[in-house]
Amino acid sequence: MGLPVVAIVGRPNVGKSTIFNRLVGERIAIVEDKPGVTRDRLYGKGEWLNRHFHVIDTGGIEFGETDEILTQMRHQAELAIDEADVILMVTDGRTGVTDADQELARMLNRTGKPIVLIVNKIDNPDMRADIYDFYTLGLGDPFPVSGSHGLGLGDVLEEVVKHFPGGEDEERDDDVIRISIIGRPNVGKSSLTNAILGEERVIVSDVAGTTRDAIDTPFERDGQNYILIDTAGMRKRGKVYETTEKYSVMRAMKAIEESDVVLVVLNGEEGIIEQDKKIAGYAHEAGRAVIIVVNKWDAVEKDDKTMLRFTELIREEFKYLDYAPILFVSAKTKQRIHTILPKVNQVAEAHSMRVSTAVLNDLITDATIMTPPPSDRGKRLKINYATQAAVKPPTFILFVNDPELMHFSYERYIENKIREAFVFEGTPIRIWTRKKT
Ligand code: GDP
Ligand code: GDP
Repeated sequence: MGLPVVAIVGRPNVGKSTIFNRLVGERIAIVEDKPGVTRDRLYGKGEWLNRHFHVIDTGGIEFGETDEILTQMRHQAELAIDEADVILMVTDGRTGVTDADQELARMLNRTGKPIVLIVNKIDNPDMRADIYDFYTLGLGDPFPVSGSHGLGLGDVLEEVVKHFPGGEDEERDDDVIRISIIGRPNVGKSSLTNAILGEERVIVSDVAGTTRDAIDTPFERDGQNYILIDTAGMRKRGKVYETTEKYSVMRAMKAIEESDVVLVVLNGEEGIIEQDKKIAGYAHEAGRAVIIVVNKWDAVEKDDKTMLRFTELIREEFKYLDYAPILFVSAKTKQRIHTILPKVNQVAEAHSMRVSTAVLNDLITDATIMTPPPSDRGKRLKINYATQAAVKPPTFILFVNDPELMHFSYERYIENKIREAFVFEGTPIRIWTRKKT
């Protein structure tokens, strides 16, 4: 289930993160620059000829206990072997084959996973003769690439997608709502999962030798089908990399990417810390519908203002998530657990809602009459036409005379007008401006 995973491995400085940025590039460039929204560039989504996949830069994960290159690489290789459908091994054409390359190739070779060998830093065609030594790694044809110039990656991707399981992208059943429950350790994700699933909890046996422990649980409630996507930390297998924070972040990001609705869980007892904001930021950036769930509400000493104060705190700390509804629950006493799925249904509907072009344009016209668009040096922004280009999340395109004249604050104003007119609770809205005279 889910998209195929491509993992990038290789010794330090061969160009892994450069290649990673090339593979996921455009998508990350889209994200908004707002305080509190940080990004970790070790996990992203790539696309090649309509085939979508996840990319992991294993080099971005540091294993604290050692500086030793070989040990680091061993952990990276383990992670790649466990997580990936295809492994990209990156080497450096300028240094030639090193002992560390050979050691890594040996580790990878034993696994039987498809491996594509990249010789990076081949910046011009004259250097192509340098790649033949790399056949000695026993990983098949080396692909010459220049990560910094973006050369050769098409051939690599063509080879990579050949190894993807199945033929086409998996057809997503649109009637199913995919949910993930994310949050830092101990906020109560597992307890919430159990509370939501109740009797219907599917018990999964531990089969020796299985490497994939991400298990998605399908279930049905009141005629609606859901899939609960397993997140990191629920089951611990004890490998070194699994205890690193970046690994759990990576797993959370993968779950977020695969879901329609993300439940961001906070610990009502402990309040909000930096890590909560980071995790919530990923959900927002990924364009998923979001519900903030404050758990352990039973353990909070309350008066009649406590809920209001916590709400204000959340609004203050998660400014960019102002569209997300907040639920105060207890997985332990089951208080308000029954409100979660109806809310999930609501935000999922908003997330995939379409607004008709005629209605949208009326709304924009009214909005621009009420508050005229910004102008600069005598030239005023003119919105000629608007249309909703996509759902999940709802994405609107404004065709304007000059996109440079658009201000963030005016974009925000338009977004607010759209939100006033339609129920987009729980979903981010994207607004793009394009030039059209
Ligand atoms: P990583 O440690 O494997 O992630 O390597 P980086 O992506 O950080 O790259 C290491 C160094 O190699 C950086 O200085 C890059 O600018 C450089 N580099 C990466 N790709 C290329 C390339 O295709 N050609 C050249 N000449 N330099 C590259
Ligand atoms: P996870 O690491 O996020 O999956 O958190 P767990 O579900 O394992 O819960 C961590 C701890 O918090 C456990 O000791 C739970 O019993 C406790 N816990 C979970 N939910 C609640 C709750 O609603 N109220 C209280 N008081 N404790 C809870």
